[in-house]
Amino acid sequence: MQYMPDAVPGPDPSFDDAVYWANCSEKKLTFQRCGSCKSFRHPPGPFCPQCQSDKIEWVEAPDEAELFTFTFLHHPAHEAVRTRVPYNVAVVSFPSLGGVRLITNIVDAEPGELEIGMKVRLLWGTSGNGQIIPLFKKG
Ligand SMILES: [Zn+2]
Repeated sequence: MQYMPDAVPGPDPSFDDAVYWANCSEKKLTFQRCGSCKSFRHPPGPFCPQCQSDKIEWVEAPDEAELFTFTFLHHPAHEAVRTRVPYNVAVVSFPSLGGVRLITNIVDAEPGELEIGMKVRLLWGTSGNGQIIPLFKKG
């Protein structure tokens, strides 16, 4: 599913998040978990912010998340998305993964249709550079 136009750049994986994006390419949404204290974190990083351990585990997320917060943009951030307003930017959380959060979009949602705490379901889209990216839809 294409949510944003091709002109919007996609992610440019770094050393720390290359595994995350490679897993996304296989349509697996994964989060880093500390191998020592087992706390989740996102975005991926080299050390645990809780205990400074560099032991990393990758855990696959369930398809269902909760809408933590969102906003609708009515003024385009740049020309490439001028015809796409209003669109949303959302934060979803995964209660079963320690509440780890992900910034994403809820597709096919008009202003007034989203509510904090509602269930949202994972689906996959493609960014402007061809990277498979996690998106969500209502319930
Ligand atoms: Zn830790």
